[in-house]
Amino acid sequence: LVIAIFALIGSCCYLNAQNAPSIYEAQVDSLMNLMTLEEKIGQTVMYGGGWDKTGPFVDTDFEKYIKQGSVGAMLNVYTAKATRDLQKIAIEETRLGIPLLFGYDVIHGHRTIFPINLGLAASWDPNLVEQSSRIATEEASAEGLHWTFAPMLDIARDPRWGRISEGAGEDVYLTSIMAKAYVKGFQGDDLSKHNTILACAKHFVGYGAAQAGRDYHTVNMGEDELRNVYLPPFKAAVDAGVETFMTAFNELNGVPASGNKYIFRDILRGEWDFKGFVVSDYTAINEMIPHGFATDSTDAARLGMLAGTDMDMMGHVYRLHLKELIAAGKIDLELVEASCRKILLAKFKLGLFDDPYRYSDEARQRETIYKPEFLKAAHEAAAASSVLLQNNNNALPLDKTKTIALIGPLAKDEYHINGNWGGAGDRKGKSVSIYEGLQEYLKSNQIIYAKGCDIVADDDTGFQDAINAAKQADVVLLVMGEDHGMSGEAASRTNLKIPGIQPKLIKKIREAVPNKKIVLLLMNGRPLNLSEEVDEVDAILEAWFPGTMGGNGVTDVLFGAYNPSGKLTVTFPRNVGQVPIYYNMKNTGRPIPEANPKEDYKSNYIDVQNTPLFAFGHGLSYTTFNYSDLQLSASQIGVGDTLTATATISNTGNYDGHEVVQLYIHDKFGSITRPVKELKGFQKLFLKKGESKTVTFTITVEDLKYYNNEHKFDVEPGEFEIAIAPSSDFTFKNTFILTD
Ligand code: BGC
Repeated sequence: LVIAIFALIGSCCYLNAQNAPSIYEAQVDSLMNLMTLEEKIGQTVMYGGGWDKTGPFVDTDFEKYIKQGSVGAMLNVYTAKATRDLQKIAIEETRLGIPLLFGYDVIHGHRTIFPINLGLAASWDPNLVEQSSRIATEEASAEGLHWTFAPMLDIARDPRWGRISEGAGEDVYLTSIMAKAYVKGFQGDDLSKHNTILACAKHFVGYGAAQAGRDYHTVNMGEDELRNVYLPPFKAAVDAGVETFMTAFNELNGVPASGNKYIFRDILRGEWDFKGFVVSDYTAINEMIPHGFATDSTDAARLGMLAGTDMDMMGHVYRLHLKELIAAGKIDLELVEASCRKILLAKFKLGLFDDPYRYSDEARQRETIYKPEFLKAAHEAAAASSVLLQNNNNALPLDKTKTIALIGPLAKDEYHINGNWGGAGDRKGKSVSIYEGLQEYLKSNQIIYAKGCDIVADDDTGFQDAINAAKQADVVLLVMGEDHGMSGEAASRTNLKIPGIQPKLIKKIREAVPNKKIVLLLMNGRPLNLSEEVDEVDAILEAWFPGTMGGNGVTDVLFGAYNPSGKLTVTFPRNVGQVPIYYNMKNTGRPIPEANPKEDYKSNYIDVQNTPLFAFGHGLSYTTFNYSDLQLSASQIGVGDTLTATATISNTGNYDGHEVVQLYIHDKFGSITRPVKELKGFQKLFLKKGESKTVTFTITVEDLKYYNNEHKFDVEPGEFEIAIAPSSDFTFKNTFILTD
């Protein structure tokens, strides 16, 4: 009878309440009236499939807990069949038949893998980001997934941190734009459709600022940096309607994120009015014990719930301790009920009470994954994400008639090419290696292949073959970089060089063929220190980990079928000692003497310039673009006015191509000092050779606001510098005044 009543609640709700949360809320309340305390707590519990059964947790018999109604969500279970089988247990073998929520890390593709997120960001194309997450959602939702743990919105200014690969880079504005694109791609405009999933803004907050770039490490930051740099992308996700948040592993100013009331209750819910639910990161509630914040697992559960962490991912502590904490009066029943309510609401919005199996559709799965148009989009994304860092002597594009020595441990790779979060993508068999991409493109026998060496091992017995190949060919193409596990979680590095003996092989080849063009094609998940390589090779193409169709996309760039248009969204340092280095730093009170770094008492290093090797925003094309005629609509504006900035961009080279035009400002004086440059807009233009276009940016007072010394988001009158530029390494020439 209960099940029948419940089914009725569900279907009425669905029929009447598409996109009407208030009606869903009434249905949630009716359902909650039927639930025991244990069942309410059950909704706050997430367990995992896959490796967890053999993992470090003693008691991982999740099927038993599902049957008891003690599990609300599962992670790492996918395919239509696996999710359907498990859902069947929740529906048919529990008292109330409440559907499970299936979550998974759908990060840069699900089956069809797109370039890693740092690469996608380098396209400076929010439409591409939205499209890639839409495609990922089509595939993931057909395999029974309702929820992705993405996007990662952590600003990252430290390339030692392996997770820099998972975000959009170092810039606040760009990451905020991408945040919206990801949320839209995953959630669509109507969550009740079976091809939309919940997005999750992670990791709240400050995770990217881990001390010394060591993963999970301490974060200490003042209110200025927190509010002006680390929070805005998350606020953008809330504005875009993101349904869930994830806590960060790190502590922030002494309080672990999963127990941090200030960020979850005061800022996220209080100031931003976020209505969705918050999941902990993997066992992050328990980790408050080793952090030295919670005394034991009961205390961890208490602190997590008090702070507003609604769901416990893999920690067991909510299932084990919430009931006793309520009985002891240590937490209010209402807190747990509020968490349960939000989780149920998400399930109603997804339509799971109407049909709990609507996502687990084997026929749809078969028709959807690796669709030709998805592969085509991934192919284009791989090209659009590549960044041409250097192109001396017009080494690129390659000439189709020439013989190529293809050398390096990643040249034939089909495994690492998918990057760290390969989703459920087939790393072998489906992914197109660079070698295969070249062969498909050239359709002839012009490739002389030699592996040369491994990514990390130091066996140089393959060097001679590589040198011989280089000698025989017209041009050398080196495919080198990191393996996919060298970036991502728990993959911090103190050395930013291309790993292993690959740099040594580059030197040997240059010595052997001093006059041949050498192109270095890189796959890696972070900015590398390329200070030596820039002198040894002619061209450097940064391909990141380009995904399933990487070999095809990158080949298009190598031969000029696609004119590279990617630009860096992270700074490439000259060496690791410059880190953290990012374009939107603050001034010191001392001048920066680039011309004479040895001069005394200046804010410089005595052994290296202050400037990076490759700046934020940098990226070359096979054509050239000229910027001219910057015009401002006024030299002075008032608080209610807008300012229009225009410039003429001309394609002055020999290829058609895209150009990412960037708008920067500098607020010269503030009640809190402001960065030397701040990106405030960008446009990606397509210009045929010889063509010119006028770009127009409109600046409103909103664009000039920041969190001031009173923690108020406000604007301060004064003088601003402004520029429209091809990258962040320019000097301002124009100013305007904002009056009272
Ligand atoms: C990561 C998260 C991820 C979660 C679930 C954690 O270790 O930090 O980003 O979503 O695992 O796989």
